[in-house]
Order: sequence, then C-alpha cells, then structure tokens
Amino acid sequence: MSKPPKPPSPSAPPPAPSNFIRSIIEEDQRSGRHGGQVTTRFPPEPNGYLHIGHAKSICLNFGIARDFGGRCHMRFDDTNPAKEETEYVESIMSSVRWMGFDWGEHLHFASDYFQQLYDYAELLVSRGDAYVDSLSADEIRACRGTLTEPGRDSPYRTRTPDENLDLLRRMKAGEFPDGAHVLRLKLDMRSPNINLRDPLIYRIRHQTHHRTGDAWCIYPLYDYTHALSDAIEHITHSICTLEFEDHRPLYDWCVDNLPVPYRPYQYEFARLNLTYAVLSKRRLIDLVESGCVDGWDDPRLPTLVGVRRRGYTPEGMQLFCERIGVSKAESWIDMGVLEQAIRDDLEPKAPRAIAVLSPLRLVIDNFPEGRIEPCSAPVHPHHPEMGRREFPLTRELWIERDDFEETPPKGYFRLSPGAEVRLRYGYVVRCTGFDKDDSGAVVAVHCEYLPETKSGTPGADSRKVKGNIHWVSVDHALAAEVRLYDRLFAVPHPGTGERDYKLDLNPSSKTVITAQCEPGLAGAAPEQRFQFERHGYFVADRIDSQPGAPVFNRAVTLKDSWASRG
Ligand code: ATP
Ligand code: MG
Repeated sequence: MSKPPKPPSPSAPPPAPSNFIRSIIEEDQRSGRHGGQVTTRFPPEPNGYLHIGHAKSICLNFGIARDFGGRCHMRFDDTNPAKEETEYVESIMSSVRWMGFDWGEHLHFASDYFQQLYDYAELLVSRGDAYVDSLSADEIRACRGTLTEPGRDSPYRTRTPDENLDLLRRMKAGEFPDGAHVLRLKLDMRSPNINLRDPLIYRIRHQTHHRTGDAWCIYPLYDYTHALSDAIEHITHSICTLEFEDHRPLYDWCVDNLPVPYRPYQYEFARLNLTYAVLSKRRLIDLVESGCVDGWDDPRLPTLVGVRRRGYTPEGMQLFCERIGVSKAESWIDMGVLEQAIRDDLEPKAPRAIAVLSPLRLVIDNFPEGRIEPCSAPVHPHHPEMGRREFPLTRELWIERDDFEETPPKGYFRLSPGAEVRLRYGYVVRCTGFDKDDSGAVVAVHCEYLPETKSGTPGADSRKVKGNIHWVSVDHALAAEVRLYDRLFAVPHPGTGERDYKLDLNPSSKTVITAQCEPGLAGAAPEQRFQFERHGYFVADRIDSQPGAPVFNRAVTLKDSWASRG
C-alpha cells in the first residue's frame, strides 16, 4: 500500500450525510429505475466476527434502506462449508441488531438458493456457456495468464454440452473426489480482465455444510453466487467494497445471461482502514488464537463484540460512520475520529460519577472523627432533570496521587504544602503537611478545611482557589476493579512493510487497577455507562459485573492523548 494520506482531524465537523451512492439512488428514484424500490443487503460470510469495517457497510446498507423507505436484507454468503459455523451466524446477527438495525423477515442464506443456482448451472452447460474442466488447480492457475499475458484455453474447453452435463451431474452425485473437476463459465481466456478468463463457478467439496448438511458435495463460488442471490432477492443496489470493481463485468454477465427474476446493479465504495488497529479477519483470528487478547470480545479489539464490551455505543458507532462518509477513494481514518464520536455521543447522556483511580489518603485534621457530612452533585452538569447524587464527606478521604506534589512544578494548582484547593462539591482545604513511609513515598496528606466554604452555600465561592479535585470518603468508598484500556497498537500502521505487526502491539493497552469509587456506583447495571469525572467514559462490564460489585472498563479518555504522540 502506498503512503497513507493525512487522516482528517478528530474534531472535524460531520460531512453532509449524502454520498455518491445516495446520489445514484436519488437519481434512480427520479428516473423510475427499479420502479422506485430500494432494496439493499448486508452479505457477510459467516466465517468470523464482525468488525468496525463491517459497521461501515451495515450503516451504509441499512441506513439507505431506512432513509429511502426501502428494506435491507440480512444475507449470509455461506458457500464455503470448510470455514463457516453457526456460532458466527448467531454472533453476526446479534451485532447487527446491537448496531440498531433490523432486517424484519428478510433473513436469507445463499445456501437457500443452492438448488436454484445448480439449475442455472445446468442451463449454462446445456447452452454451451459453461464446461467441466479437469485440469488441476495448479494447471488452471498456470493457464490463467497474467495482467500482461493472455490466458490459454484448457484442453477440456471443447467438451460437448452433453459430455459436460453428464460430468456435472456425476460431480453432484458424488462420484469424484475433491479437486477432480470444476465447472467454469466459457467466456474469454484472452480478456484483459482476468475475472472473465473462464471463471470457476462450482467446485467439489466433500464437506458437511452448517445448514445443508451433506446434501451437496459441489459448492458454487462467490462471484456467481453473489450476483445470482442478489437477483433472486430483487436487490436493487448491491453495494460492495472496491476490490470487487473488477468483478463487476462478471456480476453483470451472470445476471444478464440467466433467466433471473430481477436485474440488480453493483456499486463499489472504499473500505474502512483504521489507524492503530487491524481489520483483516486473518489478523484478528491470529490475535485471538495467539492469546495477544482475551478472546473475540476483548475490549481492545475492533470487533463489534469487542467495542460493545469496551463501552462504545451503537449511536456513537453510527455517528462515526456518518462522519467518515462514503467515497471511492482509499484512505485511512484516524482512531481519534472514532474515539471522538464515542465521546460526543456519551457526553450528553452519561451520568457523572467519581472514581479515584490511584488513591492517596487525605486527612482533614480539623474535621471531627465520626462526622458524616452529606454532599451532593448533579448527575449531569447540563441536565438538571437527570437529578442529583449524594455522597458523604468524612475526615479521611481518597484523592488522586497526582493531585498532590511535595514540590509543585510551575503552574501546578492542586495540593502542595501551604496550597489551597477545592474538594469538588465540598470545602476548600489548605494543605498542612504529609507523611512518608521508610522508602520516602508519600502515604498521606494532611489538611484543614475552611468551614465557610462549602459548595452550594452562600458565600462559598468568595474564597478563590484555582484547583478543584475529586475525592471519596475512605469509610464509604466502593472498591472496584477498573480496566484501563488503551489502543491495542502503539503505531498508526501496524506491520508496515515486512515488519511483524505483533511487534507493534501497545504493551500498555490494558492496565487493571482497584479504584475507590463513589458509593452510589455499587448500583451500576451491566453495560451502564458513566463519565468518571476528570478521567473519561467507563462502562460496567457486561460479563464480569456482579450485583453490588461492578467491574468497569474504560471506553475512552476525556481528551485525545494520542494526537501529539503521532
Ligand atoms: P475478508 O476481507 O477477510 O475476506 P470481509 O471482511 O470481506 O472478509 P465479509 O463477511 O465478506 O468479510 O464482509 C461482509 C461485508 O462487509 C461485505 O460487503 C464487505 O464488503 C463489507 N466489509 C468488510 N470489510 C469492510 C471494511 N473494512 N470497510 C467497509 N466494508 C467492509
Ligand atoms: Mg469478503
């Protein structure tokens, strides 16, 4: 791949939701092509879990159906029995639903059309448009030619339709082992488009299929199956990624040369490439199987089950897909664009909460032992209708370790000897000292509170301080496991050149800590999302959270800390 172009800035305004495919559909609707109908499909092969690239295709196909009053079919392209499994079918359907889309009654499988596809193949054979080739896979490859050299005809190309029909039927009946014969379209071995050099349309595979069992031992190939499945389902706009552009003549040949019930059209767009991530199925499988991550739904993976567990929202994913748009130009999207979409979605709706991630003890020496002072804060600073939350202030609090500096650098406005700071939603305190252990580490900070300064009381703000730090009561805090997730890769383009992409893994992509949290967080429901003040957006893990004992995953920090690292 050539040098990637500069990614758009994460805070770029969303582009207009229109794109060249929508323009084509609008034009088709004006001209009356397809009788005003819009039917799209999302056609995954059930051989892996969906990833963020698929989300782009899902939003495009289902989004068009939604906005043009049409429908989008969920279709499994299940023509390869060797790699496909029901587990993947279930997971794919669940991820598409999670993204917020619904196919109604239009759940389809290419395998439902096996009989029809076979009948078409017999028709092609009897018309002389297809032949059984008995060359080996290597020989076929050798005869195919290259981009600069034409291909050569197979010696079996001149078989008669009767001979071919007999062989095809015997292939179907299971008389031959895998690889003995294939069925090919008889197009043009000298075509400048290699896809038209007598493409294979059937091969023998003695394998049990996840849906058709052992009913078949010959299976149709992708291009043939895909075009005809679209036609059978009356798809109007068949949208796929750019690598299929050169396959379009074959797509058109199939739907133009068989008595199909409908004439669909194929359009291509550029696939999503995301920095600091890998989106190829092969690499995702490798990461899972080699134990580099904790399974398919590891929150660091770009799988949809992974980003869900990470705390990303379907609305945030849709916002991201709108922002990146759809075009025919290959490009890279910066991970920051995705993270910003998640922040922008969560900011207005995530309840606020306090969690101290790196606790240091603060003792208010003039605060009576045993006194419990109620404090309160808005659930959301801009949405009073979301209500308020309460938590107690006591003599001993947890604060963040980096909210205290023994010798503060210039411009440091938090706690240091003699400095004053506001305990958010509580009092102004003045630092009076600190304790160290034998190793010289600070183990406690001492302070005094100023009684007239409680937040929300008259005159509280007359005491001007620059720092404002969060805290929780030591006696009331909820200790919770928090998983600080970060980008899985440390570089924008893992595995550039010949480099092993696993060498580019970010060694600190996951840090597990015990945080001290606001007591109300004990009631967090699995998948409930929060903004931990000053830290970022977090979700109660949907698998590991227990009633009263939530486990939190960091979805995204409040600010992009990677922008400057580049
Ligand atoms: P592979 O490339 O590993 O063979 P795939 O990612 O193409 O697999 P499919 O199940 O064939 O997996 O994809 C289903 C649909 O999702 C296809 O229409 C495909 O074009 C689209 N798609 C896959 N990856 C991306 C991507 N990165 N960006 C946009 N669309 C994608
Ligand atoms: Mg594919």
